[in-house]
Amino acid sequence: MNGDWKQKGGLVDLHGRVHDYLRVSVTDRCNLRCRYCMPPEGVEWLSHESILRNEEIVRVIGVFCGLGIAKVRFTGGEPLVRRGFMELVTGVRRLLPDTELCLTTNGILLKGYLEALRDLGVRKLNVSLDTVSPERYRELTGSDCHREVVEAIDRALELDAFEIKLNAVLFRETLEELEAFLDYFSGRRVTLRFIEVMPSGLVKGLEFLPAAELERTLAAMGALVRNGSGDTRVARMYDFRYRGRYDMKIGVIPPLTGCFCDRCNRVRLSSVGALRTCLHGAEFCDLRGLLRSGAGDDELAAAITTCIREKPREHALQCHDMDGTCSSLSSMSRIGG
Ligand code: SAM
Ligand code: SF4
Repeated sequence: MNGDWKQKGGLVDLHGRVHDYLRVSVTDRCNLRCRYCMPPEGVEWLSHESILRNEEIVRVIGVFCGLGIAKVRFTGGEPLVRRGFMELVTGVRRLLPDTELCLTTNGILLKGYLEALRDLGVRKLNVSLDTVSPERYRELTGSDCHREVVEAIDRALELDAFEIKLNAVLFRETLEELEAFLDYFSGRRVTLRFIEVMPSGLVKGLEFLPAAELERTLAAMGALVRNGSGDTRVARMYDFRYRGRYDMKIGVIPPLTGCFCDRCNRVRLSSVGALRTCLHGAEFCDLRGLLRSGAGDDELAAAITTCIREKPREHALQCHDMDGTCSSLSSMSRIGG
């Protein structure tokens, strides 16, 4: 097999967007039931045979990176519940010594993996934590593991090897406990990110709170200074001086009120090998079918390139889709959030 397909000049779509960021959902399974992500009774797990094996994931990530992907984020479901997850990361690192590897996790099992992740050069950790109240954590996630998450964050800070972002989904209750949240993370070297809740086909009755309300509340609590140079493609960044004592970095992610589709550089590989170019789109390309029918790397590369070329210009989500009637949306836990 020659590697001619590697020379083809980046993953560009018909709207001129270049894609260099791949999110890989390594499992649909999870040890939490966050109420904005899954129904309390959970969802039916996909069969083991349908999930890509480690060697399939490593191979397909290799093809993506040959085409221009420079950053790979492992997500899920909960990536750390996948058996053999560290072997998977090891395999990817061996194949791609220079690729940026990142992890999004709910943090429950994280503490035991931190040293190994550091040693494999995983530098960016996004930990999902919506609350500093163990009671609210139980209400939101169905679990009593709040302490484990907080301890993992503290241990990660101690190791001083990671850039840590905390992701909190935004609800009215978030504003009610904002002071406690800020007090807790003051002086800890983490970026706090608040994300507008997105509709999910599986969850009904989510109350949408626009990011602007959070921004107004923060501005009333301290000096909220826009730091445009820190913006990412999805987050508006702020420096926040609170109680006159310290500066915190705060990111606000508004997928609904501040659609960022025009600068989207990400694509997603689901645990069953579906390439999705949009989190909210129904379209996908079945890479598992190709992998398991003996396709060569050049065929995989052609399928990936074509699928990305045709990425839709933008999603069509609206805030009023929150009633769970938005049928095009599958579970975040399957696609990877
Ligand atoms: N289990 C891991 C975790 O929770 O970090 C990784 C997968 S999870 C699907 C990825 C991200 O999606 C999490 O930060 C989670 O808060 C976010 N998420 C899930 N459902 C969401 C929703 N309806 N709206 C906004 N964000 C959501
Ligand atoms: Fe699990 Fe993450 Fe979904 Fe919560 S947000 S249920 S931790 S996949």
